[in-house]
Amino acid sequence: MMRFEGKVIIVTGAGSGIGKAAATLFAGEGGMVALLDLDSKGVEETSNAITHQGGETLPLVYDVIDEQGVSNAVEQILQHYNRIDVLCNNAGIELSKPLVQTEGHEWDRVLAVNLKGMFLLSKHVLPHMISSGGGTVVNTSSISGLLGWPDSSAYCASKGGVIQLTREMAVEYGPHNIRVNCICPGTTVTPMIDRLLGLEEDPEGTALSIRAMHPLGRFAQPEEIARAMLFLASEEASFVTGAVLPVDGGYTAK
Ligand code: NAD
Repeated sequence: MMRFEGKVIIVTGAGSGIGKAAATLFAGEGGMVALLDLDSKGVEETSNAITHQGGETLPLVYDVIDEQGVSNAVEQILQHYNRIDVLCNNAGIELSKPLVQTEGHEWDRVLAVNLKGMFLLSKHVLPHMISSGGGTVVNTSSISGLLGWPDSSAYCASKGGVIQLTREMAVEYGPHNIRVNCICPGTTVTPMIDRLLGLEEDPEGTALSIRAMHPLGRFAQPEEIARAMLFLASEEASFVTGAVLPVDGGYTAK
């Protein structure tokens, strides 16, 4: 099935993990994918992998919290493809620290990348979706946006903010035929989780206990999260907006 033939999709954080998987699946279904990430090596790797499979990409190295850069990136995409149909606001960073040890600048950085970055991309993309008659946005939140998780004050606050930003945008831009939804992934096998487990005294033991917290008894593969993003971005979800979809192996069902 080629659900994204002729569509232009932006994926932020496309240089790794969930964003890389989403970009690859979008391209596999005929989409033209603008890959945005501040990691130039990651963007190049994703782009090469997709191109190797016959897919179409526009690699872009930008920081989602640099408004001028975001504006330039959107202009480049429009010059190249002349339209934007789907925005996947997915770039994010982790911080594992007790609240009382979290520095102000660390808090600001997590909130900026995980939340303000989505605002900036949306601010610069939505006017073009409005003028072309509509579009869809998929934001990446987390189970940490729905539930508390120790040592994650900034991360939980940012991901809770993503859920409310999603609802606000759905209400404000529904009348312009723009659907806005978010996914809340459970623990997913990506470099982010490798980094977090690497901070633990017993990474294997911690991984075992976190797996056991998910009723399906395992971590997600990035493609399992990406498939939910594609569903929300596709015409199959044509009456879905403002939704907060856990993709978490049952973690939040308990
Ligand atoms: P990852 O670290 O593998 O990939 C994140 C990508 O975002 C990287 O390529 C990184 O370079 C990019 N990025 C970071 N800051 C950026 C910035 N300022 N500008 C542009 N790009 C930037 O992580 P992942 O696990 O694939 O995470 C993707 C999203 O999923 C994040 O929003 C994360 O919070 C969320 N998430 C992940 C998990 C998980 O278990 N892996 C669970 C829930 C939610």
